[in-house]
Amino acid sequence: MEFSLFGQRFTKFSGITQLMHDLNEGIRSGDDVIMLGGGNPAQIPEMLARFSSEAQQLLSSGDLVTAMSNYDGPRGNNRFTTALATLLNKTYDWELTDKNIALTNGSQNAFFYLFNLFAGDFAGNKKKKVLFPLAPEYIGYTDTALSDDFFETVKPKIELLDDGLFKYHVDFDNLHITDDIGLICVSRPTNPTGNVLTDEEMQRLDTLARQHNIPLLIDNAYGTPFPNIIFEPVEPIYNDNTILCMSLSKLGLPGTRCGIVIGNEEVISAISNLSGIINLAPGSLGPMLAQNLVESGDIISLSEDVIKPYYYAKAQQAVTWLQDSITDARFRIHKPEGAIFLWLWFKDLPISSQELYERLKTRGVLIVSGHHFFPGLDEEWRHTDECIRMNYSQPDDAVQRGIKIIAEEVQKAYAEM
Ligand code: PLP
Repeated sequence: MEFSLFGQRFTKFSGITQLMHDLNEGIRSGDDVIMLGGGNPAQIPEMLARFSSEAQQLLSSGDLVTAMSNYDGPRGNNRFTTALATLLNKTYDWELTDKNIALTNGSQNAFFYLFNLFAGDFAGNKKKKVLFPLAPEYIGYTDTALSDDFFETVKPKIELLDDGLFKYHVDFDNLHITDDIGLICVSRPTNPTGNVLTDEEMQRLDTLARQHNIPLLIDNAYGTPFPNIIFEPVEPIYNDNTILCMSLSKLGLPGTRCGIVIGNEEVISAISNLSGIINLAPGSLGPMLAQNLVESGDIISLSEDVIKPYYYAKAQQAVTWLQDSITDARFRIHKPEGAIFLWLWFKDLPISSQELYERLKTRGVLIVSGHHFFPGLDEEWRHTDECIRMNYSQPDDAVQRGIKIIAEEVQKAYAEM
């Protein structure tokens, strides 16, 4: 069989495929594997109970079968997008209509559309790229491009904090918005690091984006107002030049594959056309299941009162366990400000983070090697091989056992110097 260039590009084994493969293997192997790798959200009992009661009601009213037996339009379920526009307008004083919202099959699906809409090959032999103002960035962006040389990024400034923590900042001195940038993209909170760009950083990025007439994509998969896995008091940004991507996944519904794109009407109409061609329509089950949560506003109160405190407590606990187990002064953790991961930095580790990943895998612990998270960085930087990402949201017993094994392997590796 001979695959086309498209086929070759999208059939190679990428970081994100490895991660999803590990995730599936981990889940299938049950207790034998400690799954601190993929981005599966926690199973929060209150949320599961609410999803279950919504599903029961939909089943008994017949709405579930109606949803399953009909296509929605290419922009997604109108009742849901209208209710969401109303809720966001009430919460933030925005002026959205349902024409500003399109649903996709997970937000991962939306990034593929949006990146290739604003970057790649243009008429007149022009090429444009996606700029990530702050590396490290989300592994899922890396292999979505339809052409080469597609991403650009900038090394962060590193602020060393007390208590063995550190924080990345955008290095605005080295952030150059040239003519070949078609889209600026940040995840906030950031996967993999748990960093939350400050309001000031966001204002500066927004201003730069508007000055250069380039859309600013904000990936709000963990952000506010839902699922609100964000531990810093920040304001969301939205205006005509922003594209805000949200998702039901980290609320606890990754299996429904429901992504939400909020943008101006031109962007949303483009997404709708892409959806029609590529998917016919996004799935109906996610919006149907979340309809009541949005109409009642419970999606916001549950995020604030249940989801945020749950993850905050788990993040703090995991930091304590890590710092108790790894006392080497070369070890630091990125300040956990949001998302469901901790980003661990082992400065001067004699082995690469990929080698550490392999060694941990043989001991039944899955994490993700940090080198996957620097899409577009085209200079050598040792730091990219010194970090790993661990998901802290899994059951306490698994996190604790995983940390013990990570500590042993890191100690062994440092002793190889
Ligand atoms: N954005 C970020 C930062 C993520 O971590 C993830 C998933 O882990 C996604 C987007 C994609 O989520 P989904 O496609 O399930 O909406």
